[in-house]
Amino acid sequence: MELEARIATVRMAETFVISRGAADEAEVVVVEIRHDGVSGFGEAAPIERYEESASSAHAFAQDAAELLGDDPFAFEEIESRLRERPGEHAAKAAIDGALHDLCGKLVGLPVWRLLGLRREGPPTSWTIWLGDPDDMAQRAEKVRGRFKRLKLKLGAGDGRDVERVRAVRSVSDVPLQVDVNEAWSLDEALEALPQLAELGVQYCEQPLPAGDPGGPELKGRSPLPIYVDEDCHTLEDVPACAERAHGVNVKLAKSGGIREAVRMTHAARALGLDLMLGCMNESGLAVAAGAQIASLFDHVDLDGNLLLVEDPWPGVEFVDGVQLPSNDPGLGVREAVPDPR
Ligand code: MG
Repeated sequence: MELEARIATVRMAETFVISRGAADEAEVVVVEIRHDGVSGFGEAAPIERYEESASSAHAFAQDAAELLGDDPFAFEEIESRLRERPGEHAAKAAIDGALHDLCGKLVGLPVWRLLGLRREGPPTSWTIWLGDPDDMAQRAEKVRGRFKRLKLKLGAGDGRDVERVRAVRSVSDVPLQVDVNEAWSLDEALEALPQLAELGVQYCEQPLPAGDPGGPELKGRSPLPIYVDEDCHTLEDVPACAERAHGVNVKLAKSGGIREAVRMTHAARALGLDLMLGCMNESGLAVAAGAQIASLFDHVDLDGNLLLVEDPWPGVEFVDGVQLPSNDPGLGVREAVPDPR
């Protein structure tokens, strides 16, 4: 097999703000794997928070070409060779996505069929990024009727997070979820969560910093389910998450791809944890990989490509609030021909 990797830039339709910072665009690594005249493609966004960059991911993917071998179906062997090189989960996820795309195309089946899964998962949430309460409510109003769930980014550190949720609640009837991105202390969480529960928030994602010693206490005292994201990367993190959370947020860019993500779902279920599938600011190519396994999750946050000015990899269908994977072979997306303008 031959591998080629490149860095691509995806442009956000509007500036995306969370507790850690703001972004107008994101860099992703795109991997193409060729075998027998067929090309498979995969993509993931390297996560700065975990010491990954577009260039480190790109270098890892290029160097991984020598580990692929000649059999694209030898997932287990390829994965164990990749595993010997630590970190760089986004690059690994892009390679895993490209292999799944390739194998699906070789046998003429969409990946969700290849894996024996249902096509349709739960509706995706739409992210209302961090802003003033009025601004967030306005943005929530703009998408009324289009999305069946809203995920509010909180953690501005200005004491107005509950006000933000109240403002959005006043203009929207759909279930609300919140993501604090590690910005609260245990005391702040214990003060805010009962108020959020009263506003009908479904669950709270990563209220405390990853590894915060207050995690188990918060799990015991929180009136609404706690999900962890920054605390949960790969299979080996899942048991500890059961002590501090009711659910985990799995993302392919963190797990290193579909196979590890599926293993994480089984471990989480065995530990009584609920499951959420997330994504980064990524194109339809990365979102398509997530959509293939979305049916294994209770909640889905796969709005990455919908937040872009233009999706460079169309093919995932947005139907009645659900990010539906294509019936076409592989990941079912195709690179759009660039607009000559
Ligand atoms: Mg999150």
